[in-house]
Amino acid sequence: MKRCLAAACLLASAVLHADARTPKAIVLVVVDQLRADLIDRYQQQWSKGLHRLVTDGAWFREAYYPYFNTVTCPGHASIATGAVPSQHGMVLNNWWDRDLRKLVTCTEDSHATIVSYGKPLTSMGESAARMQLTTLADEIRAQLSPSPHVIAFSLKPRSAIALGGHRPDAVAWFDDAGAWATSTAFSPGPVASVAEYIKAHPVEKDFGRTWDRALPLNRYLYESPAIGLQRTKGEMTQTFPHILKSPSGLPDQVFYDQWQSSPFADEYLASMALHVAEKIGYTTGGPHFVGIGFSTLDKVAHDYGPFSHEAQDILIRLDRTLGDLFAGLDRLVGPGAYTVALTADHGVAPTPERAIQQGIDAGRISVQELIARAEESMTKTLGAGTHVSQLAHDYLYLEPGVYEGLQANPTAMRTLVADLKTVPGVLRVITRDELAANHFDGDSAGRQSALSFFQGRSGDIMILFKPYWIESLNTTTHGSGYQYDTHVPVMFMGAGIAKGEYLMRVSPTDVAPTLAFLAGVTLPLTSGRVLSEAIAPIVPHQ
Ligand SMILES: [Zn+2]
Repeated sequence: MKRCLAAACLLASAVLHADARTPKAIVLVVVDQLRADLIDRYQQQWSKGLHRLVTDGAWFREAYYPYFNTVTCPGHASIATGAVPSQHGMVLNNWWDRDLRKLVTCTEDSHATIVSYGKPLTSMGESAARMQLTTLADEIRAQLSPSPHVIAFSLKPRSAIALGGHRPDAVAWFDDAGAWATSTAFSPGPVASVAEYIKAHPVEKDFGRTWDRALPLNRYLYESPAIGLQRTKGEMTQTFPHILKSPSGLPDQVFYDQWQSSPFADEYLASMALHVAEKIGYTTGGPHFVGIGFSTLDKVAHDYGPFSHEAQDILIRLDRTLGDLFAGLDRLVGPGAYTVALTADHGVAPTPERAIQQGIDAGRISVQELIARAEESMTKTLGAGTHVSQLAHDYLYLEPGVYEGLQANPTAMRTLVADLKTVPGVLRVITRDELAANHFDGDSAGRQSALSFFQGRSGDIMILFKPYWIESLNTTTHGSGYQYDTHVPVMFMGAGIAKGEYLMRVSPTDVAPTLAFLAGVTLPLTSGRVLSEAIAPIVPHQ
């Protein structure tokens, strides 16, 4: 064996064993409502960040959520943990809390207090307490030494909090009343670097600003306004240009609503994240974690539809915003020294009216009709009284004792199931017992529904709608197990990634395990796997 001085030996072994794939930073980007095929459709409009991901990244084109209730909170929690709702417990954005007898959001926390970065706020505090698992960010922070920094930002608390996990250094979201916020669950007061950015960049500077198409009209696909347009947010017009303003002439809630449905909010988030990352410096340790949930596509496409010029323009501008973000990270961390992962929390359905025009069986389901039919049915079989507590998304929650009454009276249960199926647009009705038993071999929708089921939080009765039938007053929505809602992109770029197009079927729950592998940490419970196809092989040291 060759002899060497102790310090030199140590240095040599460090060089040999350091894994060149380990990134200095992990940047997890979630584009709310980015359906996978929107990339095929719109990528010819892009030239910056999204384009860079498509051309320089590992692009998994066949990623599907395995569960049924594809909404924002379950999506972000599944991306962040690598698990499904039956494991992490975030079953919907809002569900009926049987003990509190009220609808709760997935992140509200009465033990925490809201911390405002601006005007005083009256919202409840928020936390990740309802998330039953730790996230990738939590595990990076807990397992590595020195502890990497964790920051996460989004317009929506459920997105920012799921990405940042239980103990981020900085997490912020935009309160609808018009101020950036965090919660005492995360920090006792404002975080200095976040406060500094917000003070220097008041959102109100965008009051009176015009949002118009970024590209010439002939670069946009489809009609404008979208077929089936229902209503627009904060008195925004049906077509471009959109001037962010309010009848009051002042930046009030109408303006803040519009701002959150404009590309300026995405630009703000990326710029704020980069500012806070720069303040941290990322000179030692790592991989540091940056989570950004870009929400405006979801907000805009709920109002204007996924094929609208507005949705296309949000992505054209997100392409530029991500281009700027990556350029900033190249400067801060070094090109190729960080890993970006981009995915979406769910897809979206076409507007029913447009689908009908194309000869597709589609429509809007009436919540009132569902509740009325359920009450009629149970009044008939169980007797008079109120039987339904709440209908939340596709979950029917029953008053205390009513479900037990149905269990004891199989005819009443069968009658309820049959009666609900007479409501136009209803495909199938599944009981809580069936979901818990999970005997759905060969039944894909049943299996998807079971993966969304969390005992105590999910409803007593689950009502599955037919494809292209939605329950929403918005122009369109998402939330089913159909592929327009479950099919999303999964993309990686940078340190440790072998670029290319990948066509095997994968899941967004594979994102956290893959990033955990690159970071060298272990997640406690996942249903995903390391996407080893896209991990760059180690280059042997010469
Ligand atoms: Zn949505």
